[in-house]
Amino acid sequence: MRRLAQAPNLAIATLWVHALREDGIDATVQREFLGAVMGHLPPDQCLPEIWIDDDAQFALAQRLLAAVQNRPQRTWHCVCGEKIEGGFEQCWHCGEMMPR
Ligand SMILES: [Zn+2]
Repeated sequence: MRRLAQAPNLAIATLWVHALREDGIDATVQREFLGAVMGHLPPDQCLPEIWIDDDAQFALAQRLLAAVQNRPQRTWHCVCGEKIEGGFEQCWHCGEMMPR
């Protein structure tokens, strides 16, 4: 297990993990519930983290995550009413894909 990245919030952490898993990386989100349980910790110690199970996949995971993070920034509105930002092509709320 190696830590790949820290995400600014759980929604983004979940999207990153899904993107990595689509490419065959065994990625998991850690500390996702710590923020609620450990309310006295500084915020930067409560952020969700992306961990890679297989060290052999770590370099590939770094490249894939960089590609996900560097997608063109687009904002779109999903059919469920969510506003999607950050270049994601799938709604974090309902799972719908961005309309083409
Ligand atoms: Zn949606």
